[in-house]
Amino acid sequence: MAEKRLSVVVVGGGIGGLFAANALIARGLRVSVFEQAPSLGEVGAGVFLTPNSVRQLQRVGFGPAVESRGARVGPHSRYFRHDGTPIAPVQVTDSSGWNATFGMHRADLVEMLAAALPPQAVHTGHRCIGFEQAGEVARVRFANGATAEADVVIAADGIHSELRQHVAPPSRSVFHGSVAYRGVIEHQRIAHWPAASWLMWLGKGKHFLTFPLRAGGLINYVGFVPADEEMKESWSAPGDPDVLRREFAGWDPRIETLLSRIEATFRWALYDREPLQGWSRGRLTLLGDAAHPMLPHLGQGANQSIEDGMALATILGRADRNTAVAALLAYEGLRRERVAAVQRGARENGLRYDSANPDLGVRDAEIAAHAAFRRRLYDHDVVPEAEAAALALA
Ligand code: FAD
Repeated sequence: MAEKRLSVVVVGGGIGGLFAANALIARGLRVSVFEQAPSLGEVGAGVFLTPNSVRQLQRVGFGPAVESRGARVGPHSRYFRHDGTPIAPVQVTDSSGWNATFGMHRADLVEMLAAALPPQAVHTGHRCIGFEQAGEVARVRFANGATAEADVVIAADGIHSELRQHVAPPSRSVFHGSVAYRGVIEHQRIAHWPAASWLMWLGKGKHFLTFPLRAGGLINYVGFVPADEEMKESWSAPGDPDVLRREFAGWDPRIETLLSRIEATFRWALYDREPLQGWSRGRLTLLGDAAHPMLPHLGQGANQSIEDGMALATILGRADRNTAVAALLAYEGLRRERVAAVQRGARENGLRYDSANPDLGVRDAEIAAHAAFRRRLYDHDVVPEAEAAALALA
């Protein structure tokens, strides 16, 4: 008897691809994940999780693991001017007051998502180099000579997506003139540091952020500074801690203390892309950074990729071979506008964080008022609208 469940190939074993694989399997689909790296998830520092994605992680059974392996960000979270003058509290709940805001180490998140998949579903060491589709079959090719076929292919292969070219015309990523120095420090090395707060200091052209990971045992820091030269988009380029210390010399002494204790840091250039006109072609669709790389100034890169995965799983869970192509179009129809608003919002927020407006009083008022935008962002539940879109297909 022919297999009725749709088969799905996911290219990319990052947060978006791994979450989507879990959500699709939970809906009864057959899923294989192909990742170029020889193993999953060793690189990275802190990722910020907000209620709009934690709601989805909970639905797929990850609620307890996020609680135990992440660090809940509490109500004492604050924005400051560069010298430590308080500006406003940070929004850490949705409108109902539900606090589901966590810092989580990217390696822990990837490990958590990967460990829940059947081992035979994940294929590392597979770099995708080609895609074709004919009739009802989509096929990907890998640099090691392997191929894989499925009813649907999901390109979750990140900002440098190899598969995006099969969906959208070529476009350049946009460099935003700044780099982020990031890393983690053990909390015991800065024992006075609040272990449950998201803290951000805003100065001219620069800002500095910390939030906790691993139940507060680690503090994640990121220093955003201007850079006039484009550098390669990389998550693992080493940075010079002395350069970072100089960038924030004279800021709030708490920052100077933290930076005096770091020994290594990584540099990450900030790029995004203009929103794409479409995400799908036939049986291929884009997800996460492959579809919508965004600046980190709303902390939504991972969160939006998780929303994408849940929307796609909800819609594909009700599709069959005849409706699979329409299902992918319904998914992108649901997601494109929301994600484009988040991409734009991240750019605007970056200008606030870097004090682009010389009237700091106005800037501070905007930061305080921005809590309303965050509440709307965090209130969003992608499932009911995805269910409605899926029912409309039937
Ligand atoms: P990504 O998380 O970028 O995942 C894409 C995956 O696809 C990667 O595993 C990549 O190796 C794989 N891939 C790419 N091309 C191919 C190919 N041709 N064939 C097969 N596989 C392919 N965000 C933070 O906020 N903080 C961090 O510290 C941080 N560190 C990161 C470290 C790394 C190594 C990476 C890849 C991303 C990091 N990010 C970090 C980004 C963050 O994970 C993403 O912005 C967000 O989670 C969206 O996830 P994604 O799955 O769409 O993309």
